[in-house]
Amino acid sequence: MKKAINNNSLHKFLIVMVLLFACFTIFNSSIAFSKSYLDNQQSIPIKRPINFLSLEESADTIFNMIQKVGGKLIVNEKRTTLKKNETLSSALKRIGFDNNNINKIIQAIRNIYNGKKILTTLPIGMIIDYSNPSKLTGGAIKLSYTKTNDVFVWQDINNNYFSQIYLRPTKLENTIVKGKIQSSLYVSALKEGIPENTLLEMISLLGFSVDFQREIRKGDNFEIIFTKKIDLLKNVIIETKPITYVSLNLSGNKLNFFNYEDKYGLPQYYDENGRSTKRTIMKTPINGARLSSGYGNRKHPILGYTKMHRGLDFAAPSGTPVFAAGDGVIEKAGWNGSYGRYIRIRHTGTYKTAYAHLSGIIKNIRVGKRVLQGKTIGFVGSSGRSTGPHLHYEVLRNNKQVNPMNIKLPAGKNVPKNNILDYKRHVQKILSQKTALEKSIQNHKIATNELNNKVSELN
Ligand SMILES: [Zn+2]
Repeated sequence: MKKAINNNSLHKFLIVMVLLFACFTIFNSSIAFSKSYLDNQQSIPIKRPINFLSLEESADTIFNMIQKVGGKLIVNEKRTTLKKNETLSSALKRIGFDNNNINKIIQAIRNIYNGKKILTTLPIGMIIDYSNPSKLTGGAIKLSYTKTNDVFVWQDINNNYFSQIYLRPTKLENTIVKGKIQSSLYVSALKEGIPENTLLEMISLLGFSVDFQREIRKGDNFEIIFTKKIDLLKNVIIETKPITYVSLNLSGNKLNFFNYEDKYGLPQYYDENGRSTKRTIMKTPINGARLSSGYGNRKHPILGYTKMHRGLDFAAPSGTPVFAAGDGVIEKAGWNGSYGRYIRIRHTGTYKTAYAHLSGIIKNIRVGKRVLQGKTIGFVGSSGRSTGPHLHYEVLRNNKQVNPMNIKLPAGKNVPKNNILDYKRHVQKILSQKTALEKSIQNHKIATNELNNKVSELN
């Protein structure tokens, strides 16, 4: 008898698991194939995804939440933000709540799971939506305390306060963005609506293979596939995943990069044949810059006489991010005479790179610290002996400067031979995903045209 019950509950448990899995699969496969985010801004469907946590779904306004939970009606919703050195109590006092209501609101939050912790970790600048209590209307607040969670507090008709955490609905969306390069890759990609961290990722990825200064021409084009997480209430991107695919077409010469996770789950990039796109040192550790002075003899702009220039100068606006040209260890970071603010990285036994005249150095870039290729280490400036904002970049081989443009750089690791079949299948999967995304852009365009035609017919 006992065993039968156990079997029965195991059976039920299995059914629930299968259902959950089915829901998850449906949710995943309903990821919209969208086009660029900016174009898509008005057309993102407000879908109701399934919450896998026990939290219920948030609402965009307190008014809507009150309707959902059946609280005391509110009429006038206002907004403020949490100021520096403010607690929730002092903020509520500032926006006109009396002590009695404040105490009840704080108590209501204390009663929810993790409530005490929430009250002590509210971030400065957090948006507080609120409605002041009166005889006829309810007091209520909404704290947007993390990117994904809201805390609501509201009154019932007996003027008791209740609080609960709600999960803001989000959606993962695959996106393809295509663009033509007008001036620089950075500017053109930004114009196409690529989120900034995805853009920086793309630049540092391409920087392994492309000399942005010499190889990119006006009219060259790029395409990129990435996944973003969207807050459906605010319609903003709250997170992006590592780039799935980037392609760059340089005067007909196509470079493809496919993301293929390694055994640690970290993104690694290879071309269609499984060759690594990583080089030990990037040729151009900066983007959007103009090579203003090459390697070799030149008349020194400040000293006046001819002097050997043992590096490359990239002219760029002050504040432009400078990347670590390769994985390595920081050997020097700080002021270095006429070099001004200066960073030197030791990459291998043979190679080092140096970056001079910086306006700033990233806080955790200190001597002995390990850095990864493509990570921002500092910013372009004009410190030391310099006539204007530029990056002075040196590559050192056995502690002697060499011309970065002339050195042959050893490549990174390729896809292991016994994984190559799996890799090729993976590439095919990404390419069919790309076709599907392109089709959805086409369909979207047709639908938009038809709609526009209908609207103009009506007019
Ligand atoms: Zn220089």
